Amino acid sequence: MKEIFEGVYKENNKIFTKNLLPGRNVYGEKIIKIGGDEFRAWNPYRSKASAAILKGLKFFPFKNKSRILYLGVANGTTASHFSDIVIDGIIYGVEIAFKPMKKFVKLCEERKNMLPIMGDASKPEEYEKLVEKIDFLYQDIAQKNQIEIFTKNIEKFSPKYGMIMVKARSIAVNQKPKKIFEEVRKKLEKNYEIIEMIELSPYAKDHVAIILKI
Ligand code: SAM
Repeated sequence: MKEIFEGVYKENNKIFTKNLLPGRNVYGEKIIKIGGDEFRAWNPYRSKASAAILKGLKFFPFKNKSRILYLGVANGTTASHFSDIVIDGIIYGVEIAFKPMKKFVKLCEERKNMLPIMGDASKPEEYEKLVEKIDFLYQDIAQKNQIEIFTKNIEKFSPKYGMIMVKARSIAVNQKPKKIFEEVRKKLEKNYEIIEMIELSPYAKDHVAIILKI
């Protein structure tokens, strides 16, 4: 098992995080034990962050104490792996839908470095008082206005880095994904430095991960 980023491990083209709560898994993922440690398989078909890492992401700045604002946290599949990494940090998870949020709240009861925020990510002013200084903004929201949501939150919370999972088909169904991704790149490049842009197929079709320095 080789540590490829802080808290992220790789073996046989599979990605793992070290389980913060040994003996428990979150979404049916495989657990393997090595010595006294337990590792959770990070499924790239269930998590775009894992897909980006498997597709060769070179920059992944999460540290033990990172503070992350996560927009579109759903039931916490990806966030649970972030929680394995940022052990002494915090993940604020924003979700608009009740059903996944209910599951996420349960997960937050077990994992003390995650906090649930039921809210609309397009209205950051409604939850800004709940979020203390963050380093990183992560977004996975399949909405037409996903770029506006992302930039609004960047402006509100001034993170050092941001990562957005862009779903082409949510922005426009009739345009070629490549064209949409280029337009998104141009839009973001006006104000931020794009560090990497990685297409996520075959794990997530017509999606691109963009990581940027604010
Ligand atoms: N990121 C999750 C993961 O990897 O475990 C999956 C996220 S899923 C693709 C997108 C989520 O965004 C859905 O749960 C959806 O309810 C949520 N969402 C959509 N619009 C939103 C908004 N305006 N504010 C907050 N959450 C939103």
